[in-house]
Amino acid sequence: MKLSTDTREFVQRRAQGACEYCRLPQSASILPHQVDHIIGRQHRGSDDVDNLCLCCIRCNLKKGPNIASIDPETSAIVPLYHPRRQSWGEHFSVESEGTVEGVTAEGRATVQLLDMNDEGRVRLRVLLLRRGWRP
Ligand SMILES: [Zn+2]
Repeated sequence: MKLSTDTREFVQRRAQGACEYCRLPQSASILPHQVDHIIGRQHRGSDDVDNLCLCCIRCNLKKGPNIASIDPETSAIVPLYHPRRQSWGEHFSVESEGTVEGVTAEGRATVQLLDMNDEGRVRLRVLLLRRGWRP
């Protein structure tokens, strides 16, 4: 079933237009951010707004139906960062050189799976940081 326009608008407003994984603002992205099922439908994730987040196209393509990944530091299997249940600032930080660093196992696994530090996004973050953007 397709999500309603009301639901999509609610998710966009709640996220204030920023990707809830990498924090890329919609205004800095050529392609529109998408509404993502945090727990995918194939894992019986619901269409409830508590299971939805706003997601840039880059994060969404890398995330796919994944709900867990490997912590690059410990090699443990860990759940991905959950934007509704966890706080971004407790799991990630943005460095002055434009990278996003995971500061917890979930954060590190999510940064790696979603390839948050691809060249294009790092370059974009540096420009945004110079203009006063904060995640
Ligand atoms: Zn993103």
